[in-house]
Amino acid sequence: MKAISKLKCTARSFFSRRYTLTPNVSSSQALNSSALVDDFTRFCYQRDLPSAIRAMDAMQTHGLHADSITYSELIKCCLARGAVREGKLVQNHVFSNGYEPKTFLINILINMYVKFNLLEDAKTLFDKMPERTVVSWTTMIWAYCNAKMNNKAFEFFVLMLREGVRPNMYTYSSILRACVCLLNLRQLHCGIIKVGLDSDVFVRSALIDVYAKWGELRNAVCVFNEMATGDLVVWNSIIGAFAQNSDGDEALDLFKRMKRAGFAADEATLTSVLRACTGLALLELGTQVHVHLLKYDQDLILNNALLDMYCKCGSLEDAQFIFDRMVEKDVISWSTMIAGLAQNGYSQKALKFFELMKASGLEPNYITILGVLFACSHAGLVEDGLYYFHSMKNVYGIDPEKEHYGCIIDLLGRAGKLDQAVKLINEMDYEPDAVTWRALLGACRVHQNTDLAVYAAKQILNLDPQDAGTYILLSNIYANMQRWDDVAEIRKTMRDRGLRKEPGCSWIEVNKHIHTFIFGDSSHPNIDEINRELNRLIHKLVGVGYVPDTNFVLQDLEGEQKEDSIRYHSEKLAIVFALMSMSKGMTIRIRKNIRICGDCHIFAKLTAKMEHCTIVLRDPIRYHHFRDGSCSCGDYW
Ligand code: ZN
Ligand code: ZN
Repeated sequence: MKAISKLKCTARSFFSRRYTLTPNVSSSQALNSSALVDDFTRFCYQRDLPSAIRAMDAMQTHGLHADSITYSELIKCCLARGAVREGKLVQNHVFSNGYEPKTFLINILINMYVKFNLLEDAKTLFDKMPERTVVSWTTMIWAYCNAKMNNKAFEFFVLMLREGVRPNMYTYSSILRACVCLLNLRQLHCGIIKVGLDSDVFVRSALIDVYAKWGELRNAVCVFNEMATGDLVVWNSIIGAFAQNSDGDEALDLFKRMKRAGFAADEATLTSVLRACTGLALLELGTQVHVHLLKYDQDLILNNALLDMYCKCGSLEDAQFIFDRMVEKDVISWSTMIAGLAQNGYSQKALKFFELMKASGLEPNYITILGVLFACSHAGLVEDGLYYFHSMKNVYGIDPEKEHYGCIIDLLGRAGKLDQAVKLINEMDYEPDAVTWRALLGACRVHQNTDLAVYAAKQILNLDPQDAGTYILLSNIYANMQRWDDVAEIRKTMRDRGLRKEPGCSWIEVNKHIHTFIFGDSSHPNIDEINRELNRLIHKLVGVGYVPDTNFVLQDLEGEQKEDSIRYHSEKLAIVFALMSMSKGMTIRIRKNIRICGDCHIFAKLTAKMEHCTIVLRDPIRYHHFRDGSCSCGDYW
């Protein structure tokens, strides 16, 4: 505190009466002034704001006037204590007494207002500044980006350039995240190259993040490839870019390259890798990553990523194990568990977790409620589901979104209350979308209601004219009703639009290798052996009552995917391959691109029983746990 200037004391009490100590001035004349300063410094260091203010008052009384350093210490103290009122008093004091604050002090004050979320106050102060540095501008830009006021951030960025202030890497890493369109982003990128900041690792990683956010992975890779030496921050960005854009394969390849390049993964890397494993349902690799994570075992974000990975891989025991050991749990941890339990068929347990979460004092958010509704729908708990649905708004103040309506339509549909489901669709606050109609169509399939199915399918096709699966389903229904003209028309529409249903594809991880099976593709090296084994298995199953399900009326199977060829659907091949190559009693985990057909569903149930194994199949919508002759989905999917 050597910089304390000994200006003439104005003898003005520093703060409001609440903090003013009235020192006995006459008897304290002899007080050592450096002792006062020491006190002040110590209180600031201890973040003891009331005492620091009293010490500042005492200093004033003894003619020691505050300067920039003293003020900035006090502001830091206010920030640490979250003391908004005191912070404002410091500002008033800074601008009184004819004292002319240095630019850096005003920057500190602006930063304080930004951190207190008082953007208006920050802006007022900013406007009053006689001179603004790159720090002043960057603080404001960061503040607007953080408050998601992207246009405002851009406006400030442009003004800054007009005033001739040169942005630094912090400015760029803030403003990049505020890009509201790709054009903005490209212009900024050019600007960054012009001033030569493109080699800065933070700017580079921000560029990659933002290109990835826009789904512009090619550009992200270009930025990444320009990097000569490599830096962990940039590696993390590019791996995260692919993981977030659901390209887990590429993310994992990059992760391997990074390790070969000699970089040790940190928490951010491993979180991305976990996300990639989650997307690909790679339990083996995910578990390996988990081992690397043990040293960070109390990191909340990582633990949430682990929970999600185990839930999405259908391994609820592992998820529960992680969950139980977490010291800190937030609404995401609980919601992940509730949704994971619900999607994997453990409805009652999911609802129990919801009660426990509420008891722990956490407020549910819309994702939590989605998991709860899914659980109710799954277990056929119509009353409970409707109760939770209505309590969303009434109790928690959350407006139901399309997904919630979808769940409730599913719930009503599953219970056979199709009329009520239609009524709900008509009562919704917004126009029903394709997802809503698909939920109704699913119910129609199960309850064999062709009239309503035709209606729902037409609605879907109005909204999503490229949905090949729905065309096929509709044509199968018409064929069953012998409405051949309608069948022909649908076929023509599909031909005209070049629509084909994507072929079924199943992935399975065996001994750390991913095996892909595509319907109608015989490129797997063991395909002959697999087909022979499959026929043998089908023969055995027929012996215990398996009848291939060839009722396609309400299914979206087409031509060659029907009748004879259902026996070669990709999931059947994957199951047989797993039985051939994995040791007995292991859980078979399969991921599939399209919904499982009725025949494969029966096949999987009976195989699980006959071979004493568990088969977990994850399709784009739900999970099927086949065990001992039945499926966790309750035959509704
Ligand atoms: Zn099938
Ligand atoms: Zn199932």
